[in-house]
Amino acid sequence: MLESALKILEKIEENGFQAYIVGGFVRDYVLGIESNDVDICTSARPKDIRSIFKDACLPTDEYGSVTVILKNIRFEITTFRKEQAYSNYRHPDDVEFIDDLEEDLKRRDFLMNTLCMNRDGKVIDLLGGKEDIEKKQIRTVGDSSQKFSEDALRILRAVRFATVLGFTLTDEVKESIFKTKSLLKEISYQRKREELDRIFTSVNVKMGVSLLLELGLDHELEIFNLDKVSNFDDLIGVWTQLQVSDLYPFTNNEKDLMENIQKALSLNNLNHRVLYTYGLYVNSIAANIKGISKKDVTYQYNNLPIHSRADIVLNGDEISSILKKNPGAYLKEIFSDLEDKILSLELENEKEVLTSYIQNTYS
Ligand code: ATP
Ligand code: MG
Repeated sequence: MLESALKILEKIEENGFQAYIVGGFVRDYVLGIESNDVDICTSARPKDIRSIFKDACLPTDEYGSVTVILKNIRFEITTFRKEQAYSNYRHPDDVEFIDDLEEDLKRRDFLMNTLCMNRDGKVIDLLGGKEDIEKKQIRTVGDSSQKFSEDALRILRAVRFATVLGFTLTDEVKESIFKTKSLLKEISYQRKREELDRIFTSVNVKMGVSLLLELGLDHELEIFNLDKVSNFDDLIGVWTQLQVSDLYPFTNNEKDLMENIQKALSLNNLNHRVLYTYGLYVNSIAANIKGISKKDVTYQYNNLPIHSRADIVLNGDEISSILKKNPGAYLKEIFSDLEDKILSLELENEKEVLTSYIQNTYS
């Protein structure tokens, strides 16, 4: 990844422009962690980048970054720009390109995210980002309250970086978050969810949640149940406990899952009928939230005599021929009865047993 990124820098510079790797990749490089994307900043304009990397560019985004795909890696190439006016607390109104790297770095969010790397692989630290990485601390570039007021998403990014990297927020940053946190209302639920997902799936999730609570962000984010969430093993389980499915965006699949987990929460997750109806995944999550071990649930689930209607040894045609009737709606009731009796171990899932039960009960 680094090698390909340096090649890109070289290519841009051969065309007479400056280019550096910037931000997360360099921060992670200094920390010795792997990054999954590379951001590059350059004095070249988007049209220059598109002509340098003709075949490899994705359609341009509305803010003038060009995405280049090389060897399956995404490189986000962004022209040096000035801090812009933010009228909606999120997206700059328009972009002003500049030729100066340092000026570009000043518009960024945190000092640790201003580190650059040049084409020789040398780390360049114009604003003091290395110091923050060494001290494991997060400071904004310039005045914190101003940074957070310009773009309130930075508040959540601060908490997310603190969580994922195990860093601390300086007192100044915390105080500014207190002052500006009401602006989080202006941020889309989609963006908020993306940051929260990264906090909830971090190994340091407990620390992240404490930080959210300490800063009172649970209220600003309308996740009022955050202090009651008892288990963070499963992301969708966390969202179920937060009960915000009508507020935050979820796929229909996620919504169904949360609804089922919610129902399964009030049931006995070791009960055969419950395991059969809601399945292993939903019951495991529900059990986990209640402090019942996943292992017990899995053991009980694997021991179910049947896992679906298809496991019953008689099919609809066989049942109707036992009763000498045409197949019809009545079969549904019989199947449901058979499921109950088999799951409660009153009947063995055995052809002869079921045949004589059906003859005795339904003919
Ligand atoms: P990660 O990719 O792990 O989320 P990152 O630091 O690379 O971390 P990106 O969202 O990829 O974050 O952004 C790349 C760089 O762009 C950041 O390092 C930072 O310098 C700058 N940046 C991103 N979002 C903002 C923002 N909201 N305000 C100011 N600068 C930002
Ligand atoms: Mg990045």
